[in-house]
Amino acid sequence: MDIVTLAGGVGAARFLEGLVQVVPPASITAIVNTGDDFVLHDLHISPDLDIVTCTLAGLINPQQGWGLDGDSFACLEWLGRLGGPTWFQLGDRDLALHIRRTALLRAGQTLSQVTRQFRQALGVAVEILPMSNDPVPTLIVTPAGDIHFENYLVERRCRDQVLGVRMVDVAAARPAPGVLEAIYQAQLVVLAPSNPVVSIGPILAVPGIRSALLETAAPVVGISPIIGGAAVKGPAVALMQAMGMEASALGVAQAFADILDVFLIDTVDAHLKPAIEALGLTVVVTNTIMRGAVEKADLARAVVAWKISNQSM
Ligand code: GDP
Repeated sequence: MDIVTLAGGVGAARFLEGLVQVVPPASITAIVNTGDDFVLHDLHISPDLDIVTCTLAGLINPQQGWGLDGDSFACLEWLGRLGGPTWFQLGDRDLALHIRRTALLRAGQTLSQVTRQFRQALGVAVEILPMSNDPVPTLIVTPAGDIHFENYLVERRCRDQVLGVRMVDVAAARPAPGVLEAIYQAQLVVLAPSNPVVSIGPILAVPGIRSALLETAAPVVGISPIIGGAAVKGPAVALMQAMGMEASALGVAQAFADILDVFLIDTVDAHLKPAIEALGLTVVVTNTIMRGAVEKADLARAVVAWKISNQSM
């Protein structure tokens, strides 16, 4: 069974860690948000691509969910001594990824090619595709002006009031090679539990992707990143509220109702089942918090089991 997963960073990477325990990794394609990509120290940084790739390579810091486990920070310390910005925690090995990516991009390779080279070098069998090779930076609209999502999230620790979200140049962006084909050829598409506004939203905003999800014969299954009205981590609630969405599993289901067939919600949100079913979706109530390997595999198994018991879809 070919499975496509639309992915942001940490929540999606955890889900994919479960999925590779349940189906052959080579049957999975992750289509990853690149709206968080930005340039710092003159280096091209792709936070979500790196989180997904390095998590699947077993290299990520398990407490944080980002950053390489056991990394050192000698270069960052020196960058600070020399007056460079240090707000974005870049470990030494992490920097190697960004140095190499930047060099390859400058030599004319696409982000897709670099991403494939990295995941192969790190022994990852899951196909990892950037949503687009065209830059589509996500900006947060604040009273002080528009700031890049990473400045909002990391440098300013989400302290700005959010007035809106802008995906710059998205209307002209093209899906990366293989993205639409993977969606059309899949037997199952999963919207990972990722931030609906700044991770899934940008992927769906790339022209062609939303219509492919509507047209594909594969059922589209979503997993709520919002549990009991709160995010497991990160600014999803503030961003959803700023976009006029209800900050709940129901709000996520409403935002994606047109493309979803099935929605997995946490047991604490079981009371939302009738309202989500009223949107025309099948609802599966299960534990969706992924702490360890067993919970990750159980959640992936719940998704795959639903597909297997509804083979005709
Ligand atoms: P980021 O770019 O790394 O911040 O992350 P994502 O785009 O993947 O989105 C983070 C979202 O994932 C947040 O809304 C979290 O609530 C959600 N998330 C993280 N871990 C889990 C989990 O174990 N279960 C569920 N259901 N959601 C999670």
